[in-house]
Amino acid sequence: MDTNQWYNLTIQECIDRMQTDPVKGLSSKEASIRLEQVGENILQEKQKVSPFVILLNQFKDFMVLVLLAATLISGLLGEYTDAITIIAIVIINGILGFIQEYRAEKSLGALKELTAPTAHVVRDGELMQIQAKQIVPGDLVYFEGGDRIPADLRILTSQGLQIEESALTGESVPVSKIDGVISQQEVPLGDQKNMAFMGTLVTRGTGQGVVTGTGMHTEMGKIADLIQTTDSMQTPLQQRLEQLGKILIVIALALTAVVVIAGIMHNHNPYQMFLAGVSLAVAAIPEGLPAIVTIALALGVQRMIKRKAIVRKLPSVETLGCASVICSDKTGTLTQNKMTVRELWVEGKQIEVSGTGYQPLGNFILEGKEVYPDRHAALMKLLEINVLCNNARLVEGKEGKKSILSREKKEWTIIGDPTEGALMVVSAKARIEPNSLLQWERLKEFPFDSERKMMSVLLRHRKGEQMVGVKGAPDVLLARCTHILWNGKVSILTPTIRKEIMESNQHMAEQALRVLGVAYRDVASGERIVDENQAENKLVFVGLCGMIDPPREEVKEAIRKCRVAGIKTVMITGDHQTTAEAIARQLGILPRGGLTINGQDLYNMSDEEFDKKVEQIYVYARVSPEHKLKIVRALQAKGHVVAMTGDGVNDAPAIKAANIGIAMGITGTDVSKEASSLVLADDNFATIEAAIEEGRTIYDNIRKFIRYLLASNVGEILVMFFAMIAGMPLPLVPIQILWVNLVTDGLPAMALGVDQAEGNTMKRPPRPSRESIFARGLGWKILSRGFLIGICTLGAFWITLQANPDDLTKAQTMAFATLVMAQLIHVFDCRSERTVFHRNPLQNKWLVVAVIVSVLLLIGVIYLEPLQPIFKTVALDIQEWFILLIFAAIPTVAVGVMGLLWDALKGRRTA
Ligand code: ATP
Repeated sequence: MDTNQWYNLTIQECIDRMQTDPVKGLSSKEASIRLEQVGENILQEKQKVSPFVILLNQFKDFMVLVLLAATLISGLLGEYTDAITIIAIVIINGILGFIQEYRAEKSLGALKELTAPTAHVVRDGELMQIQAKQIVPGDLVYFEGGDRIPADLRILTSQGLQIEESALTGESVPVSKIDGVISQQEVPLGDQKNMAFMGTLVTRGTGQGVVTGTGMHTEMGKIADLIQTTDSMQTPLQQRLEQLGKILIVIALALTAVVVIAGIMHNHNPYQMFLAGVSLAVAAIPEGLPAIVTIALALGVQRMIKRKAIVRKLPSVETLGCASVICSDKTGTLTQNKMTVRELWVEGKQIEVSGTGYQPLGNFILEGKEVYPDRHAALMKLLEINVLCNNARLVEGKEGKKSILSREKKEWTIIGDPTEGALMVVSAKARIEPNSLLQWERLKEFPFDSERKMMSVLLRHRKGEQMVGVKGAPDVLLARCTHILWNGKVSILTPTIRKEIMESNQHMAEQALRVLGVAYRDVASGERIVDENQAENKLVFVGLCGMIDPPREEVKEAIRKCRVAGIKTVMITGDHQTTAEAIARQLGILPRGGLTINGQDLYNMSDEEFDKKVEQIYVYARVSPEHKLKIVRALQAKGHVVAMTGDGVNDAPAIKAANIGIAMGITGTDVSKEASSLVLADDNFATIEAAIEEGRTIYDNIRKFIRYLLASNVGEILVMFFAMIAGMPLPLVPIQILWVNLVTDGLPAMALGVDQAEGNTMKRPPRPSRESIFARGLGWKILSRGFLIGICTLGAFWITLQANPDDLTKAQTMAFATLVMAQLIHVFDCRSERTVFHRNPLQNKWLVVAVIVSVLLLIGVIYLEPLQPIFKTVALDIQEWFILLIFAAIPTVAVGVMGLLWDALKGRRTA
């Protein structure tokens, strides 16, 4: 049979053909056999860069080629030691570059794995979440609004299901899907309404399907090549550094040319000058910079993962450090999303409910006395609709595993939406459970969506009558009600009662309760209900349910830290204004004078008016996802860098438009995750704060090693430059310059890339997004420290040469050692934006190790006899070490002392 024609088959035929069970799905064993046979459910990826190619690329670098040409010339001139040493250095350099790049590639790959899509399937009779790539033909897949279809499916059930298939058909209007048979032949993809295709998007409703094709055997697989796009993972900073690198090459080459020409004019050996020139150019160009930036980013990203923040787009790491406003959802992000119904309202009476957590144990208390729901018709109706208009399940045991303990001792869990779960629990406290309501059959569901803020079901009783059950936000629901259940009868909903209901709603909301209203209506025989508008009108109001959703404990502190760090937190919620305000106050989001506004006000407000107020608004209540986009744009227009959270399908545009779009790892839809640049593995607001802190730290670390590398390079160039201009002998031989570049520059720079945050990371305002990497004095620091390192190295060289006019090698060894030590001392200065004395130098263990290794290597090069002729060094005595250490310390210590004096002076002035 042509696999294209699944749509011609009945459900039973599909099930038979796929040899699966329509209820229990495949067994795990069968699934793994099929996985072996057909392979993973993935579209073949474009060829990855192999490690060998990465290694080869290291030797393609322009400066390496120059160096190799120099080697060739040395070889031709018979300078074999030089040639071999240069080759050895090139190889070591290449291997180091390879390790750096390979590691960076690997961590980026690991990152992709983490954000891989998942899907809900039934196997062994259990609904479970698995990685989409594990899906096999015959699997039963469940999906709902916001999911991306993970494979090609024949639809088995569909409730208000709509799928957007533009990725496949180009048609962006969602298609309504059905579960019936299509009898025509040769039906185009867009009209195969009982099929769902891999990669398309569920925009509404829920459904279930059996997998007919996976991986390259899907419709998407056929056009896989067309849709594969590789995102550029370069951050703006990396791009800017690449440009900067090009400018630096020109400057370094120009200065090198001056050095070579000046040297030759002062009668230096042209060959020596040529080699010195090449080495200097190689040393002065920070070719390792991009790789170290990538490593710092990749390692930082791994630290973020440990703190539950998963970066999907590398550039957002940088943007995180600039965030000035976080717009956060309330439910689940600021609060725990562990709901418990505390209060009910029926027939004008406030009923309290006792009990904790999800345990279905508790009493209903009215004016201090227990009431029995079975003696109270309206209360019964409320609790019944709670269960019937509900998709959550209350199950025993931690993971739903049954236990034989008594109801009191068992653990209970909710599967599904916590709001609905809470309603299940409160009903179960009155022993009203799905099993006790089997006389009702669900015919249709109009699923909840945050735009409509309601959910309803069409039900048929065993005896034949039909009913619509509805629950939703009280204000929205009440507008659809004409009657109320009052004193056991259906009565007209008078304005007075309407007012009373709204007051009760308000009263509950003031206590930070999330309130849902419940209503119903009997359906006349013969009435056809096709859509939610027909279902949700002329309703009979039954009552209110108020549930607590406690704030997450760590969030208050995270919000405080953000405030200190100059970042404003804004709450955006679909919940009632009073509830939102109450929680915002508890969490310290809403300051005195801060404004709260609701969706309706926002809708009525002109853009100009909104622009004027936007910075004073801290809470947006009863907003729909579409409003989020308006909020992001208005804040951005004010110059803010906005982080915005979201979980639903409709949140995607706002998440995309925000500077940092944040999706929820647990409750978020695939669409929101795909649109996001950051995913919170734990849905927790505090994780955003942690990610911002890491983002700032990463940027600081990049600044640190850029400062270190460039100051070192400036020092290296200047010592040669000044010496040649002044007509001195060559202070460093070419091999020494290459050595400094390789050992002294590389290792400590990498250690700076993983440095700890400076104490004030979250105590200063966000960095302006357009700020140059050299801002806040970095450029000046690089030039001044580089200048001092150059001068001090030359000083040590000159003094030694004065004392030993015939021993140039000794003077060169002194210059070499001074330069290395000056850099290794200066690296500790780079850890602080202030001075070397402001941080404990031993705190970064990697740096200490890198410095010790570099010092030991220096000692080896100076004292090991076989190396001395290669590196043109001689042994130095204690006194010489003493002198060189003084010269080496000056650039860092002198500047540090000046910094301290300056601080003291300023302190006295401000005192
Ligand atoms: P956020 O997550 O953005 O902070 P929220 O979760 O409180 O907001 P929504 O989920 O959009 O916002 O809910 C808005 C309102 O819709 C709620 O205040 C509640 O009254 C009602 N509501 C929530 N969930 C359901 C549901 N499953 N069925 C019916 N009504 C619901």
